[in-house]
Amino acid sequence: MTVLHIANLGKTYGTTTALAGINLDVAMGSRTVIVGPSGSGKTTLLRLIAGFETPDAGKIELNGELIADQQVGVPAHRRNIGLVMQEGALFPHLSVLDNICFGIRAEADASARALALMDMTELDRSMAQRQPHQLSGGQQQRVALARALARQPRLMLLDEPFSALDAGLREQMRDATAQILAHAGVATVLVTHDRDEAMGFADQLVILREGRLIQAGSPKTLYRRPADATTAAFLGAAIILPADFTGAAAECALGRLPLPDDDQAEGAGQVLVRPEQLTIGAAPTSVEWQVASVLDRGNKSAVTIERLHRGGRVKVSFDHVSAHVLEIGQTVQVSVTGTVHPLRG
Ligand code: ADP
Ligand code: MG
Repeated sequence: MTVLHIANLGKTYGTTTALAGINLDVAMGSRTVIVGPSGSGKTTLLRLIAGFETPDAGKIELNGELIADQQVGVPAHRRNIGLVMQEGALFPHLSVLDNICFGIRAEADASARALALMDMTELDRSMAQRQPHQLSGGQQQRVALARALARQPRLMLLDEPFSALDAGLREQMRDATAQILAHAGVATVLVTHDRDEAMGFADQLVILREGRLIQAGSPKTLYRRPADATTAAFLGAAIILPADFTGAAAECALGRLPLPDDDQAEGAGQVLVRPEQLTIGAAPTSVEWQVASVLDRGNKSAVTIERLHRGGRVKVSFDHVSAHVLEIGQTVQVSVTGTVHPLRG
């Protein structure tokens, strides 16, 4: 079941194309994370969904109902979409309780519901009469979340909601928020530029760059089969090598490596190998390399190895978890476990 359906969405500001040709579906109760560098159109996309901007192209449907295209524009307050911004979105002169009640104050049981939401977001009820400036950053974001949940939104939009918090608290808030949203059963679209936040939160990960949707899929799929080198490197340490593809295999400096049945390629291109696929030690498929540098970090060593291949010097770096000691200049045999993937971008 689809909550949000976006088709061919576009938005231009003057000569800036903020978004173009965006297609995206969000399933009920699911968590979609949008990642992309600054200026890639993440906030514009959320503002279009929330109803603070109108699209120049395409359409947005919520629960099968058209809410935005070039003719239709359901006003933001009628969309019943919750929005939590980076910071500073609370009313500074209102108490915690009044902030949470803001969108439901006409309803008889508003206070009781707000208190229940404080419990749900793990805000101690003793804080109900405090003002936002008397709360920590994490507590303020919990109030913002409780306020957004009060109207029982059909969809929750979170625009870098943890980026103003420091690292430890950010992780804690991310996990807490995931739990709260799961409990509330509301589909969520989260924007971040933090890799760990994206990988930790997403059912569906969406890569946005320069206003275009580069790739969407599960974190696992995108990690294994990123559309291009930039996406590969963003999602984790990546070894990207020139390769000749012959259908079921890639010929590269690491040897002849198998491609999976459903991701084969022909001709010259680039292949992605993840460092955790490398093993040092003789195996039937292994290739000889020389150790170029070793950075011993106790249980883990960062190792760079090199070899001559096709007349050039190829270097590969990885964290090598091993008890045995490597020395610079030493010859090692390196083999690759599992299948590898062609990069097409
Ligand atoms: P992100 O949230 O990924 O950092 P934005 O959606 O804020 O990116 O912006 C995408 C592009 O659109 C940027 O080039 C930005 O400068 C431009 N932009 C966003 N909002 C406006 C606006 N109101 N007027 C003009 N340009 C805008
Ligand atoms: Mg933004």
